[in-house]
Amino acid sequence: MDANRVSPTFEPKPCPPASRAVPCTPYPVPMTAPRVACQGLTKTLRSGSHDLTVVKDVDLAVQPAESLAILGPSGSGKSTLLGLLAGLDRPTRGTVQVDGQELTTMNEDELARLRRGTLGFVFQSFQLLTNLTALENVRVPLELMGFQGAAARATELLGQVGLAERLTHYPSQLSGGEMQRVALARAFGPRPSLILADEPTGNLDAETGERVLDLLFDLRQDEGTSLVLVTHDAALAQRAERRLHMAAGEAVRLEQ
Ligand code: ADP
Ligand code: MG
Repeated sequence: MDANRVSPTFEPKPCPPASRAVPCTPYPVPMTAPRVACQGLTKTLRSGSHDLTVVKDVDLAVQPAESLAILGPSGSGKSTLLGLLAGLDRPTRGTVQVDGQELTTMNEDELARLRRGTLGFVFQSFQLLTNLTALENVRVPLELMGFQGAAARATELLGQVGLAERLTHYPSQLSGGEMQRVALARAFGPRPSLILADEPTGNLDAETGERVLDLLFDLRQDEGTSLVLVTHDAALAQRAERRLHMAAGEAVRLEQ
C-alpha cells in the first residue's frame, strides 16, 4: 500500500466479511466520498477525418447504496460513459473517482486492482468466455481473486438468476437472455460495492427481468451496493432513485 495516500481525514473502509474476495481494502477511502463520481468527463473519438465527441462534460456523483438509471437514445454515449466510469476506457478530458480514488491517473495494474472485487461490470454484449461453461464463467474469476468457496457462490448465484439447470452449458448453447444472466451472476460474484450494468434486462422477458431487478435492488438494500444502470426499460428506470437523461453525449437532465 502506498503510505503517501493515507490522510488523517481518511478512514479505512471496513474489512468485508471473510467470504469476500479481498480481505481488506488496499487503500484508504475518504469518509464522504461518493461511490463513483466524474467531473467534466469527455471522450472524443477520431472518426475518419473529423473528431466526434461521444461523451461531453458529464458531471455526476453516485453515493453508496444509491441507484442511478442512465437513459437516452441509441448512440447518445451511454455505454461509453459507463466504460469511462469503470476505468475500462480513458477519457479525453475530465476526472473519475471510485471510492475517492482518481482513476484517470492510475496505470492498468492499479485500475485492475481497484476493479477487482470493488466493481462489477455487466457488458451490453455480455463478454462471456466462450470456452468456459456458465458455471466456470462465474466461478473462475472468483477463484482468480482468491475468493473462498468460489464454486458454491457461483452455483448459488446461477440458481438465483434461474440458471440452475444450465451450469454446464457453454455460451453458444445459451440464449441471449441466459447469457445476460450469467454475466449478471459473474458481476455479483465478489459482492462488489458498485455495479455498472449496460442494459441488464435488455434481453430478458418481463418476468425474468423483474427477478433480475429484484436481485440488483436487494444487493443495494442488503449490502449497500451502488447501482449505475443503462437502460431502455421503463420499469427499471422507475425503480432507480435518479434518472440521468443523455442526448448526443451530454447529460441533459437529472431526474430525482
Ligand atoms: P449508446 O450506448 O448510448 O448507444 P455509445 O456510447 O455506444 O452509445 O456510442 C456513442 C457514439 O459513439 C455512437 O455514435 C457510436 O457510433 C460512437 N462510437 C462508440 N464507440 C466507437 C468507436 N470505437 N469508434 C467510433 N465511434 C464509436
Ligand atoms: Mg449502448
